[in-house]
Amino acid sequence: MGAGTFSVATGSRMEFLDITGQVQKEVARSGISDGICYVYNPHTTAGLTINEGADPAVQDDILAVLKKIIPFDHPYRHMEGNSPAHIMASLLGSSVTVFIENGQLVLGTWQKIFFCEFDGPRSRKVKWKLL
Ligand code: ZN
Repeated sequence: MGAGTFSVATGSRMEFLDITGQVQKEVARSGISDGICYVYNPHTTAGLTINEGADPAVQDDILAVLKKIIPFDHPYRHMEGNSPAHIMASLLGSSVTVFIENGQLVLGTWQKIFFCEFDGPRSRKVKWKLL
């Protein structure tokens, strides 16, 4: 059991930040051997996803295609001007769930947990809960 929040600082308008190490640190600190880890992003213009972390070109490709399928020049009604970021956040989702076994996050060989910034740079929060 355990829950908390940590901060991440994003450095550009759109980027993927690998937060696997921070999440694993909370798992280790909790002492939980077997359980479930929930990670939640409480922001409307950022997401969370699990995908390949070995080749950074994968992150570049995902961001490039998101920009292509969600145009910045569409006549959006939301006056804040960041509708593409809201749409990208909904597409990727706001949470991930990872099993914990032997005190370790159970991820595939190439998988990492990414905080997905779509309207940065900003200071952001990531919430986690371990059961
Ligand atoms: Zn907005």
